[in-house]
Amino acid sequence: MKVWILNGNVWNDRRQALEPKHVRVDGEIIAEIRDASEGLPDTAGHEVVDAAGRLLSAGFIDMHVHLREPGYEHKETIATGTASAARGGFTTIACMPNTKPPTDTPERVRYVLDKAKEAGPVRVLPYAAITKSQLGRELTDFAALKEAGAIGFTDDGVGVQNAKMMKDAMALAASLGLPIVAHCEEDTLLEGAAFSEGEFVKRHGLKGIPNESESIHVGRDTLLAEATGVHYHVCHVSTEQSVRLIRLAKQHGVRVTAEVCPHHLLLSDEDIPGLDANWKMNPPLRSPRDVKAVIEGLEDGTIDIIVTDHAPHSEEEKARGVDKAPFGIVGFETAFPLLYTKFVATGRWSLGFLLERMTRKPADVFGLGLGRLEPGQPADLTIVDLEKEAEVDPAKFLTKGRNTPFAGWKLKGWPVWTMAAGRVAWSE
Ligand SMILES: [Zn+2]
Repeated sequence: MKVWILNGNVWNDRRQALEPKHVRVDGEIIAEIRDASEGLPDTAGHEVVDAAGRLLSAGFIDMHVHLREPGYEHKETIATGTASAARGGFTTIACMPNTKPPTDTPERVRYVLDKAKEAGPVRVLPYAAITKSQLGRELTDFAALKEAGAIGFTDDGVGVQNAKMMKDAMALAASLGLPIVAHCEEDTLLEGAAFSEGEFVKRHGLKGIPNESESIHVGRDTLLAEATGVHYHVCHVSTEQSVRLIRLAKQHGVRVTAEVCPHHLLLSDEDIPGLDANWKMNPPLRSPRDVKAVIEGLEDGTIDIIVTDHAPHSEEEKARGVDKAPFGIVGFETAFPLLYTKFVATGRWSLGFLLERMTRKPADVFGLGLGRLEPGQPADLTIVDLEKEAEVDPAKFLTKGRNTPFAGWKLKGWPVWTMAAGRVAWSE
């Protein structure tokens, strides 16, 4: 496909401003970028996309998502998940292995890659499990999983409980040059709770999940990462203590990176309106003090990137009551508008700050060679209408999941067009 995208507003980091550009796509590659001040190019033989008045960015990258296939197709399929991602402006997503069966063999890595190819142009990067069946008892065949296309190892959904198992996993991953991506959770401290220890559970007479159930693993694992030299990436950081431990590890030269989700930047347990499972996710919404800490951690570089932890469930599953309902909320279709509206439009962050944490930084943290709007780069592009205002309406989501605490929020900055590898992945 040969395309001219005309008059898109591209963020210039040096000038800290948007500048109108014409971008030419040839096949899968960004072929050329011109200043709009040079006038309109000759578009003969090209499709033309008018991006005037809109943001044109490198496609968003989400390094933590759940596509649910195989095994939970009633929650999501790779086809519906990638469609939802494209609508949210994402052109690359990395999917977690906690499917049924889990992605713990080379065949299952290839299954995800094949299904993703069938589904469309959004890049799907599979993680493989650290332990067989994610049971924490025996390591998977890391070398064979890498060979099949796994980009890293994680038991996301559960923590690796055994320190020796985690240390062996890190040493092996380090020898293969791939990261260990950790869902940090100490099972013995969970109390079987649905929400975090804090004001909300006190009010409802419930047990709470304490902060240290997450942070104790961050502490343990940053020490193991120091000992093994692995690239250790912390999933969905949610506590003040985790931020403090990651900051300390970075100061000591440990190869640690970290991610945070929009909901942990925007909501605390005190925002939970009642016993509604659409507010139940793992890690849970923590205290306002924790929210402040993860925001500051992102701002000072302790936390590197933003991910959604997109985790669709059926309405029936979420209606089982807060004790029995599964953890998780959807994220693709609300991530950018939420963060743009609450952090950029309010003046706290520059647009460039947000874009960097959703494009260039995730690409660089994981060595993907993506995330830049430059000639010669893959044509992964997103157009966003920064002025468009709309309410979050779960009934209109492309994901099968309707499980979001953000229903009814009035937000600005909606993606309207997405291209991945030179092919249109979604258009309003
Ligand atoms: Zn997780």
